[in-house]
Order: sequence, then structure tokens, then C-alpha cells
Amino acid sequence: MKNIVKIALNIIFPPKCAACKEILPYYSTALMCDKCCEKWETEKETKCSKCGKIISMCRCMPESCKDSIDMLISVAPYTSSGSVTDRLVLYAKENNDRSLFSFMANEMTAAIYADLPSAEDIIVTFVPRSLARKSETGHDQSEYLAKIVAENFSVKMMRLFRKRGKIQQKTLGAEKRAENAENSYLLLKNTAENVKGRTVLLCDDVVTTGASLSVCAKQLLNAGAQRVYALTFAKTVKK
Ligand SMILES: [Zn+2]
Ligand SMILES: [Zn+2]
Repeated sequence: MKNIVKIALNIIFPPKCAACKEILPYYSTALMCDKCCEKWETEKETKCSKCGKIISMCRCMPESCKDSIDMLISVAPYTSSGSVTDRLVLYAKENNDRSLFSFMANEMTAAIYADLPSAEDIIVTFVPRSLARKSETGHDQSEYLAKIVAENFSVKMMRLFRKRGKIQQKTLGAEKRAENAENSYLLLKNTAENVKGRTVLLCDDVVTTGASLSVCAKQLLNAGAQRVYALTFAKTVKK
């Protein structure tokens, strides 16, 4: 019955490729068209210009993260050039699409899988959008990503931060980003008791300068976390 409803809905609202928006056959359950799937596989093979490894194996991180984050794990390169990765990140920001979040979070899970210490010490959290931003789009993509990653590892996901202010990081240059991030993320009240002595897995959709991740990670360490791992879907690479 569910399937019949889904097919009927698909005929009225044909499914579209999450990256290029091309209309897919009504019976399709794929997230992307074949062409974008192919491009995506190629993009994932992009090698880091510093260490020469593909992005999911590369553990290089922005200077700003080095004193607070133990390991930064990402899946694919963010290029700001309309790549499939870029488009998926953008689509996830604008659309509350569970199948896309699952796709992204499962890729993130696979990238970090081998590096994660024993599960009982882990707590998953995320870098939140501001309430203003969340009410604009109706969702917080990083929260969904964190939720699914936590489910995949059968560990707890907790919201540990609140973001104040309306300024979006992407509108700022590197220096202003650091300053804005410093003032933006507030640790919630009960955080210390939850993170003490534990490994925190801090999720976000994309890492650019690392300012938000590093500000959040520092606060987690101050609250007693043993170490912070950062996990993002995309990572900005220089072209
Ligand atoms: Zn496509
Ligand atoms: Zn690298």
C-alpha cells in the first residue's frame, strides 16, 4: 500500500536528481541521476594536494583546528564550482530531504568507521544553525546528519550547542569567521556532565576554515571531553 501511494505521488511530483535537478523516472528511488552518480564517484577520488590521499582517507586539517581537534574526517571535496558535492551540500541546506541526509550520513559513517574507538565512550553532536536560520529552512541539516551517524553506531546524539546571532559563516572572510564563531556558539547547560571523559564526535555538513568546528571543540575540551573528532560531509579544498 505504501508503495502504491509513493508511486502515485511520484507520478504527480516526479522525483528529481538531488544534484542537477533532472527529472527521474517516476518509479526511481535513486537520489541522483546516473550522470551525477558517476561524477560523484570521480569526485570522491580527488586527492588532497598536501598528503596525496583521497579526501575520505586524508586527515589534514585547517590550522585553526590543530589545537582542539584530534582528527578531522570528511567524505568529499567542496570546490565552490558547482560540483556534485557542492550541490548536495546546498540541497541539504535548503531541503528537508531524509533520503539525502541518510545518503550523506552513511558516507560519513563509512569514512570514520575504522578510526572510531570503542563505542560506549562516544557521544555524537553537531554544529547547529542559528534558530533564525533554522526557522527559515525548517530544519538543521547538521542535526539530521548527526542523528543518523549516531544511529549507525548505536550511540547517543545530543544537542550540546546553541547558536546565537544571524550572521552566516559563509558570508564572511577567514578572520571575521573566526571572530563570529567565537561569539556565536554557546554550550548548553548540562553539557559538562555529558561529555566528561568521553570522545565527542562533532558533525557538520562542510568544513571551510574550521572556525566553527574549532570554537565548538575548544568548549567541549574545556567542559571535560577527552577528545574531539570532527566529521563532515564535505571539506573545502584548494583548486
Ligand atoms: Zn543529476
Ligand atoms: Zn590531506
